[in-house]
Amino acid sequence: MSITEKDLQVSLKKYFGFSKFKGLQEGVIQSILSGQNTFVIMPTGGGKSLCYQLPALMQEGTAIVVSPLIALMKNQVDAIRSVSEHDGVAHVLNSSLNKTEVKQVKQDITNGITKLLYVAPESLTKEDNVEFLRTVKISFMAVDEAHCISEWGHDFRPEYRNLRNIIQRIGDNIPIIGLTATATPKVQEDILKNLGMSDAKTFKASFNRPNLYYEIRPKTKTVDADIIRFIKQNEGKSGIVYCLSRKRVEELAQALQVNGIKAVPYHAGLDAKTRSKHQDMFLMEDIDVVVATIAFGMGIDKPDVRFVIHHDIPKSIESYYQETGRAGRDGGEGHCLAYYAYKDIEKLEKFMSGKPVAEQEIGHALLQEVVAFAETSISRRKFILHYFGEEFDNETGEGGDMDDNVRYPKKQQEAKEEVKLALEIVASTNQKYKSKDLVNVITGKENALINSHKTNEQPFFGKGKDHDKIFWMALIRQALVAGLLKKDIETYGVIKLQPAGKDFIENPESFMMTEDHVFDQTTDDSI
Ligand code: ADP
Repeated sequence: MSITEKDLQVSLKKYFGFSKFKGLQEGVIQSILSGQNTFVIMPTGGGKSLCYQLPALMQEGTAIVVSPLIALMKNQVDAIRSVSEHDGVAHVLNSSLNKTEVKQVKQDITNGITKLLYVAPESLTKEDNVEFLRTVKISFMAVDEAHCISEWGHDFRPEYRNLRNIIQRIGDNIPIIGLTATATPKVQEDILKNLGMSDAKTFKASFNRPNLYYEIRPKTKTVDADIIRFIKQNEGKSGIVYCLSRKRVEELAQALQVNGIKAVPYHAGLDAKTRSKHQDMFLMEDIDVVVATIAFGMGIDKPDVRFVIHHDIPKSIESYYQETGRAGRDGGEGHCLAYYAYKDIEKLEKFMSGKPVAEQEIGHALLQEVVAFAETSISRRKFILHYFGEEFDNETGEGGDMDDNVRYPKKQQEAKEEVKLALEIVASTNQKYKSKDLVNVITGKENALINSHKTNEQPFFGKGKDHDKIFWMALIRQALVAGLLKKDIETYGVIKLQPAGKDFIENPESFMMTEDHVFDQTTDDSI
């Protein structure tokens, strides 16, 4: 089937009423229609669903959409039905259906009426479903929220690991399309590997949100008063305040109310009726502020949220990005303010103890990125985008001046010699240390690990003791962001030398280092 640009436009208008494609949609759809494996990485709100819905509607056969969220599946099915002549165009297949309903679904698929079949991965593993799907024409398989396949994603689901097998059993050569809003290179690699589609055509949209202003403030005892002051300065604007615990949510919501701010709490401990009432009040603008745990936000599509405050720092950069991403959806102002104290990181680490070791290691590595982000003096936007594998130039990039570190820069100092020393030590120690031990080697602090390698006997041991640990931690962090060093994910954070780092050792250049914020005295592990 040869499909022209015009055909696509016509179908877009016909099914969705839109006259233009958004971002990379058109290329993605062309790729799917041509039967290629396709990988789509777009931030939330980027328009991922249409990327598979439209080609499904245009093609013969049924597209299977795997999604972990039953509520979202239902919404999507309703939306597709509302623009189609036949309700059978989209179905959900899951364990909540009775026998008659299952029969109807299968009949619609067999008759070629159903274009989109939404399934949870659990339902797809059921033998009789697989047997049935083998007998019908499948146009392609879309794996939504594909990061669930990776332990490095924020929502790992073991049953996602089985998908490749099942797809193969359903049919040979069924094109696969993976979609996610999680952009870290490690997660991407896991997805491609696990879905067996290293040949996939990849479409990655920029994660830059130029209208968001990022700011981190040290968290002190007066954090509540500070938040109240901020909200009062932004009176009448819609905002979300995230807290870690339900108890804090309740307390802070009350404190805001007492101070004359129209605020309500939202967390999973409230009954469903109250939750939906509070959500509606926010959407209808009867109140200005929702104080919430992370339970609030999934599927919330309020375009004019003007600020997102984190009373407690989130457990990963992905979470921070998702949560702050709820501000300024309409392209208008969006102030993202987070409060940070290293103590909160320790609290989050404590929550993880008791979990399987690998999970703890991953959780720890993700948290260290949060620490680095919170304490850094380089542009926050640059840091976030670097984390997501995207290079950003503050001079030329959109939103380049939209964060506290760029607006109010910290003092800078020449650190050419120091960077060279750190890189040389990484090389001389055969790239085997994580940042903390690397700093111990540089500053000459012995410990069992270092001594077991006899690194303490090396001539470079302690060569950087003129500066303190905080200085060296900051320097390593900045060398990481500058691409001279790299943290190895497989080994949970061992520091490796990059080609640019090797060049630097040969031909050192000026390296302007910014002083880091010091949030408290416990920054030892803070990379
Ligand atoms: P994602 O799944 O990437 O978070 P959605 O698929 O929910 O994003 O789409 C986000 C919003 O963008 C939805 O409201 C959707 O209707 C809208 N949208 C998608 N494609 C287009 C388009 N081509 N033109 C206008 N709006 C679009």
